[in-house]
Amino acid sequence: MTAHPFTATLLHWYDRHQRALPWRHSHDPYRIWLAEVIMQQTRISQGLPYYERFMAAYPTLADLAAAPLDEVLRLWQGLGYYSRARHLHKCAQVVWQEHRGHWPRTAAGLQQLPGIGPYTAAAIASQAFDEPVPVVDGNVYRVLARHFGLATPINTPAARQEFTTLSASLLDPAYPGDYNQALMEFGALQCTPRKPACDTCVLALSCVARQQSRQHELPVKAPARAIRQRYFTYLVAYHNGRLLMRQRPAGDIWQGLYEFVLIETGKKPELQKLAHPLLQQAARQQMEPIFYRHQLTHRILNVNFVAVSVSGPPQQVADLAGSGYKWFFYDEVEALPKPVLLARYLDTHFNSINLQEETK
Ligand code: SF4
Repeated sequence: MTAHPFTATLLHWYDRHQRALPWRHSHDPYRIWLAEVIMQQTRISQGLPYYERFMAAYPTLADLAAAPLDEVLRLWQGLGYYSRARHLHKCAQVVWQEHRGHWPRTAAGLQQLPGIGPYTAAAIASQAFDEPVPVVDGNVYRVLARHFGLATPINTPAARQEFTTLSASLLDPAYPGDYNQALMEFGALQCTPRKPACDTCVLALSCVARQQSRQHELPVKAPARAIRQRYFTYLVAYHNGRLLMRQRPAGDIWQGLYEFVLIETGKKPELQKLAHPLLQQAARQQMEPIFYRHQLTHRILNVNFVAVSVSGPPQQVADLAGSGYKWFFYDEVEALPKPVLLARYLDTHFNSINLQEETK
């Protein structure tokens, strides 16, 4: 079967312009899966060192399945979206234990695994097992919307169906993995969001957006969900070389990561008016709060950190702080999985001041 002219041109471009990436020509589902999970919502330049670190720490599926979750979360630290790391670990265990180390060979089978959605399933199935299934991600939406002049808002279920069907009809069944990677690579390097390089584009002659000068109108997006503001005050309680922390519960951001004593308020807090026994101690010590603003998907976190040197019996203080809080020595804290924001606070504001104070 002859490939569609769009596909033939795209594959030819890919042969000449693809970036050299460690998983690019692999048929190993473990490597492809690891790369896909790490690279989601992440630039290649940022994700690549993580991929290399994970491959060094866990060269095989068996190694990752046997690793403690805390260690995996720690290695993931800085990438954000920690639920992906938890799913990564769970998925390795399921494939290793329930599938005896054999990955399902189809996108439908792969989607039954933890944390694997349609995108990742199609990427693994097409690259590792040559299944002719299309991958549809942001790059694919952009290239197809522009080239074929499609104005369906891409953040709607109708668009998913429409673009998946179109991409399936263009896919070269002899090279499904290369076709998918070529389309994504073309979106990343040539048909980029803000400055598509139309003047040097091999698809320019057949591109509807270029003919109609609509490159910047396509793809269309329906209005985004409102961003929610949250207000956290962290009391960083320390006593005799230890910090008071707890593991965050399920059902919210940062599930399973460790945090300091948290007071969350519905609006910007007036610290002197918050009623918390530890905050009263902090006020007596005249500790200045350190403020961070931190953007997550659909949320902005406004976070105050207030360090407080605790007096009084440690267990009593832990009970006063709320349920689940425990004391950890500083070197234990270092090894605990934490939101990157808390790690940054500790590195830049806490260690230098408070450790010195305590050792005086
Ligand atoms: S001509 Fe421009 S808009 Fe069209 S596919 Fe090429 S880079 Fe994208």
